[in-house]
Amino acid sequence: MFKKILIANRGEIALRVQRACREMGIKAVMVYSEADRDAKYVRLADESVCIGPAASGQSYLSMPAIISAAEVTDAEAIHPGYGFLSENADFAERVEQSGFTFIGPSPESIRLMGDKVSAKQAMIRAGVPCVPGSDGALPDDPVIIKRTAKAVGYPVIIKAAGGGGGRGMRVVHTEAALLHAVQTTKAEAGAAFGNPEVYMEKFLQNPRHIEIQVMADTHRNAVYLGERDCSMQRRHQKVIEEAPAPGIPRRLIEKIGERCAAACKKIGYRGAGTFEFLFENGEFYFIEMNTRVQVEHPVTEWITGVDIVRTQIAVAAGEKLPFTQRQIQLRGHAIEVRINAEDAYKFTPSPGRITTWHMPGGPGVRVDSHAYANYFVPPNYDSMIGKIIVHGDTREQALARMRTALAETVIEGIKTNIPLHRELMVDASFVTGGTNIHYLEEWLSQRER
Ligand code: ADP
Repeated sequence: MFKKILIANRGEIALRVQRACREMGIKAVMVYSEADRDAKYVRLADESVCIGPAASGQSYLSMPAIISAAEVTDAEAIHPGYGFLSENADFAERVEQSGFTFIGPSPESIRLMGDKVSAKQAMIRAGVPCVPGSDGALPDDPVIIKRTAKAVGYPVIIKAAGGGGGRGMRVVHTEAALLHAVQTTKAEAGAAFGNPEVYMEKFLQNPRHIEIQVMADTHRNAVYLGERDCSMQRRHQKVIEEAPAPGIPRRLIEKIGERCAAACKKIGYRGAGTFEFLFENGEFYFIEMNTRVQVEHPVTEWITGVDIVRTQIAVAAGEKLPFTQRQIQLRGHAIEVRINAEDAYKFTPSPGRITTWHMPGGPGVRVDSHAYANYFVPPNYDSMIGKIIVHGDTREQALARMRTALAETVIEGIKTNIPLHRELMVDASFVTGGTNIHYLEEWLSQRER
């Protein structure tokens, strides 16, 4: 096992990885920007290295700064967390070329899955169902583009091969709008992602977002850890996640889960990963794979009993998965809400000093956050400052626990989205379960009226 790991991230996920290291008897090196200098989780680390100014381009996204921090501290491995450099194949490659272990899949897997056209083609070959659409990237020929759209059936969505974070997509309802939409998306994709390639998919009208967590080792073992429902989204950003997904028959989940595990073996995947699907009319359609740990991993940890971060570290060190598929039994129901430093309804960021920080507790409550009273939320990064996760024997009990937990939560000094979560936890449709990806935005626009 590693003796020392460098954590190339910040905030709650940096603390989450640090906790796993500590439990495993591994020393943790924390890198930080000038904006995070005084954070408690930085002080808690065995060692810490300042890697640059607040701007992430010069700190958390700086490959040379991070690799030299690993060199000076004699770390053996680098955990990238999520966001920042976690899905950057060049970074994974440079980490390995510099003699460190990258805690994640191979650079080849990251590259394959990072390009949505190649990812989709690999999934089709591996027998994972995908959204019907163009066969690979769209050619320039307008006749073929029109013919493809007709065959797929309107509405269609034009998506950038290199897109991410919900950007680089355009929905087209009629043939008259098609060619212009393709041209514009190509131009934007070239400018934003350095890759003008686009592809076409059928635009699904009312899908749910269901994802499958997988875990694979370097000994050809791959296991799926059930599913998560992340349909409560705003601007393609997840707001609430839960597991299992309400109302989806287990045999459907098992069938798609087995496909995902088989696909991991086929592409030689290692570490944690997530296959994201749109789910509509009883069918799953693959949209993309995330080759890293996700924000919402705690809901899966709770219903499976698997420590995902610990397992990531173990398989990166060459160990075999400590469980088989048959040993994965789902227990109860878990729900996570993301705590964001923002206005609950206008969504404008609200950085600044937290004066009161009172977190909930009791049976079935977990809080993952690096924040505390007197912590200053820097304006430079994502607004998420933590997560409250609850577990219950049933979904009903989990909902009741989340309501209780949110009622106990007091955060003062900055605005947060806790009031929004309190309302959603008693919303009739959410309480019933199974709302689609448009539900939250429709709910918000009705609330405004
Ligand atoms: P990104 O990498 O930018 O997150 P995704 O491919 O995961 O891009 O798509 C993000 C979101 O866009 C999905 O969660 C869904 O809301 C919407 N979307 C993407 N493809 C389709 C589609 N074919 N039909 C309907 N909605 C889609």
